[in-house]
Amino acid sequence: MRRRDFLATTAAAALPLRRLARLRLPDGAGPALPARPFDLDRVRLGPGPFRDAMQVNRRFLLAQDPDRLLHMFRLTAGLPSTAEPLGGWEAPVNELRGHYTGHYLSALALMSASEGDAELKARGDRLVTELAACQRALGNGYLSAFPEELFDRLRDGKPVWAPFYTLHKIMAGLLDMHALAGNAQALEVLLGMTRWVARWTQPLGAEAMARVLEREYGGMNELLYNLSARTKQDWLRDLAHRFDHERFFAPLAMGRDELKGLHANTNIPKVIGGARRYELTGEPRYRRVAEYFWRQITTQRAYCTGGTSNGEGWEEEPGVLSTQLSGYTQEDCTTYNMLKLTRHVFGWTADPAAADYYERALFNGILGSQHPRDGEKLYYVNLAAGLWKLFGTPGQDYWCCTGTMSEAFAKLGDSIYFQDDAGLYVNLFIASELDWRERGVRLVQETRFPEEPGTTLTVRASRPARFALRVRVPYWTTSGAAARLNGRPLDGFAAPGGYFVLDRSWKDGDRLEVTLPMHLHMHPMPDDPTMQAILYGPLVLVGRLGTEGLTPDVLRAAPTQPRTVPEYKSGPVAAPAFVSRGSGPDDWIVRTGRGALEFRTTGQAQDVTLVPFHSIFDERYAVYWRVSEA
Ligand SMILES: [Zn+2]
Repeated sequence: MRRRDFLATTAAAALPLRRLARLRLPDGAGPALPARPFDLDRVRLGPGPFRDAMQVNRRFLLAQDPDRLLHMFRLTAGLPSTAEPLGGWEAPVNELRGHYTGHYLSALALMSASEGDAELKARGDRLVTELAACQRALGNGYLSAFPEELFDRLRDGKPVWAPFYTLHKIMAGLLDMHALAGNAQALEVLLGMTRWVARWTQPLGAEAMARVLEREYGGMNELLYNLSARTKQDWLRDLAHRFDHERFFAPLAMGRDELKGLHANTNIPKVIGGARRYELTGEPRYRRVAEYFWRQITTQRAYCTGGTSNGEGWEEEPGVLSTQLSGYTQEDCTTYNMLKLTRHVFGWTADPAAADYYERALFNGILGSQHPRDGEKLYYVNLAAGLWKLFGTPGQDYWCCTGTMSEAFAKLGDSIYFQDDAGLYVNLFIASELDWRERGVRLVQETRFPEEPGTTLTVRASRPARFALRVRVPYWTTSGAAARLNGRPLDGFAAPGGYFVLDRSWKDGDRLEVTLPMHLHMHPMPDDPTMQAILYGPLVLVGRLGTEGLTPDVLRAAPTQPRTVPEYKSGPVAAPAFVSRGSGPDDWIVRTGRGALEFRTTGQAQDVTLVPFHSIFDERYAVYWRVSEA
């Protein structure tokens, strides 16, 4: 329908297959990947909503008190601390305490790499030094904000929350401080912890270890695979494999979705670990697990926003989502982890559908999950009509999602660009500058996307460089999509859902302007077509439903006790139903904002104003609507 003829372009569907055929398996080194991501320090964000969000997060991170983050680590190690304990999930009685300190290290490392930020790096360095002192005092490599006794309980099958989940955050934070912020001591501390993990798991037979893996353990397998790749120590790969959850992987490897009833964020990180195993060993089974899982979640278990989970779980059969709307949908950690997994899947396939998904989940699942005023994060992204985004209260909550969102907003330059031997992929339209030093090229992307439907790419190079520049042509664009090179219109263009490819010798100052018109389209629930969301380009539009009853006290979550979820202190307001006249949403929704993305329904019993999901705060809204045909 909107597909057009195109010249010199690559058909989307053909690309992954052709490239897969070229996968090589060098001796034990894993497969060569069709598309390789860039390290964070190679991409600098330009002005726009993403850089603004990163700055808000920077202030949020700097507002945290390192001594409070260290308090329970010090006490656990028998060291003095007079700091005021943190609240919420970091409170001294909480069995997950210490997890945020791990996320915090990761966030500092990610942002110091993203921004070249010396202040954040110095803060991370200081935390590592203090954590090393705690580890020294404990004397056996163990490092945590709770005693080893919680691991005894885990081993003995007694009640305990998730000790390895928490340990994983601390270990991942240390690896990030080493890999991204160049901190050598972080690697020493991490290897000490890893030897402790090896000693702890060593006496456990397969059955006992399988029991341990039934309790949430974060991405222990991924972390250990990453560490083995970094240090080239094979024993770490074997240790990582002990954390591959075979009971969970087995049906996925056979292409069976047995996810109903499972806790979402317990399991997505395991799959990322499986993805890393495939990349390190080339074992196709782990790729099958990861790709099948990714497709099931993104096509059968994701809302219009790209998010997944209700009440933290997959409560239904594949494709059943209309009954899965509540104030507790789309736990933020799941979106964070699905984006991580998508980065791997794109690397294997160069499939534009993976990049389309990444964009949708990034704009609708991440970008609006941080309050622009104080950087507080969401736990759940509410998709129930008439409620609001329930943010945390400073110093009080420290949910799992406070941690993953601290990281997500520290790495917004991630996955914009990928490279292969032939050239570059431009996957996201985010103002930024890429240092492509392999080719002696800098690529400057200037855009006000999504306010502006398109982007401009300028090549900076001291000498001409031949490469294929591939610009994603999203599934959501229209027949007006076009490109101009140095001001001259180009004849052909790729169909939506593919890449526009220009393979040529690029010289300094070459400028490619790409126009990607957006249009309104509906996103029906797969199991109930009368329940629909409204999208404009990749953006989910939400209807503004007012602020009735939303006092400051109601807007923010009350401090949460261990293992409780934040409560909405006011009920939902009703959302109107709509009648669709004629062929599509253009017949009953009009754009009202001149520069801003603002729309309004027309001729309905109750009309509403629609704005992008990522831009609404402190207001009630609805995402899905009952829509009937006139
Ligand atoms: Zn979470």
